[in-house]
Amino acid sequence: MNPAESAPLTAPPSRPISDRRGRTLRDLRVSVTDRCNFRCGYCMPKDVFGRGYRFLSKNQLLSYAEIEKLVRAFIRLGVRKVRLSGGEPLLRPDLEELVRRLARLEKLDDLALTTNASLLTAARAESLKQAGLRRVNISLDALDEKIYRNINQIQSPLADILQGIEHAMAAGFDSVKINMVVQKGVNVSEIIPMVRYFRGRAAVLRFIEFMDVGNHNQWSLRQVFTAQQIIDRIHAQYPLQPLHANYHGEVAKRWRHVDGKGEIGVIASISQPFCGGCVRARLSAVGELYTCLFARAGFDLRKFLKLNRSEAELATQIGALWRNRQDQYSAERLLRPQPTGETNSRKVEMSYIGG
Ligand code: SAM
Ligand code: SF4
Ligand code: SF4
Repeated sequence: MNPAESAPLTAPPSRPISDRRGRTLRDLRVSVTDRCNFRCGYCMPKDVFGRGYRFLSKNQLLSYAEIEKLVRAFIRLGVRKVRLSGGEPLLRPDLEELVRRLARLEKLDDLALTTNASLLTAARAESLKQAGLRRVNISLDALDEKIYRNINQIQSPLADILQGIEHAMAAGFDSVKINMVVQKGVNVSEIIPMVRYFRGRAAVLRFIEFMDVGNHNQWSLRQVFTAQQIIDRIHAQYPLQPLHANYHGEVAKRWRHVDGKGEIGVIASISQPFCGGCVRARLSAVGELYTCLFARAGFDLRKFLKLNRSEAELATQIGALWRNRQDQYSAERLLRPQPTGETNSRKVEMSYIGG
């Protein structure tokens, strides 16, 4: 039996909790759906997530009331930042309702959304802002239409996404960030055009190393264009200076344009893993807690919701799981000789736990 299952359901701890490696629980990523209208090759390749793929049914998804109750329990344990993700979170109807529920929670300092922006109309951006959303991250991997479509495997025009980004910037969120996953042989040629496009604008561009998430994206170390290579390439054309982290546990390393045209970030999960500072828990769309992006299994919290357990009892349960946490997949990957990651074990899919 998992130690957490036998944990007594007593009062929750009143102060932040640490796992077995001394990492405090601070962030929560909530996946609100496993469905997406894109089929990015690095996340939901078309040949696997095609017509025959069995997505979760509507009644399997956590309701907004259930998500709120779980988030309240996480807040008791020290979570101060929540990010809504998916799949594509804007596919969930009236996401604003969930945002409203979470935005009013005391002690939650930050409420953010990660989206592909395909459904981010001006009205939607405005209503999300009104509902209390603080920050938005938008995924965009290329500015060349052909490369963009090749990666995302959709027919909708790139112009729609660029419009979505404009709407996010116009809505007045605290920050808008653009996430670009860089893959060798796929979109390295887009690094400079992306920098050129976003330099001096209100959106911060961040480069993410291609990761071996899930089981289907044919990841290989040979396809990873490292953070250092990305920085070197940009620096040669647009000189950069390193910046200090904004806060403990920030995953992106920040750099500023020497000419004052803003900053960029790099997320070096493969070449410079940050497991030592990983303060993030993940909640799947069906209410399972994952303590690592690369975990093989989650812990079913929904059964406690069904039993009508109180927030305090849920917090005790979650606290026991976090205290027992040892995950450091990326740090261990660095030590493994296989260039293609693990092939004989099933990891959770990124679209299922929200990246
Ligand atoms: N659909 C939304 C989107 O794309 O922004 C939210 C969910 S998506 C799973 C969250 C983030 O994970 C995106 O920024 C995406 O680029 C990133 N991602 C997905 N697969 C990845 C991979 N194999 N390596 C690195 N980042 C990945
Ligand atoms: Fe969909 Fe986001 Fe995954 Fe692309 S990265 S397939 S947009 S969930
Ligand atoms: Fe955190 Fe797991 Fe990623 Fe390490 S591999 S940074 S523990 S999510």
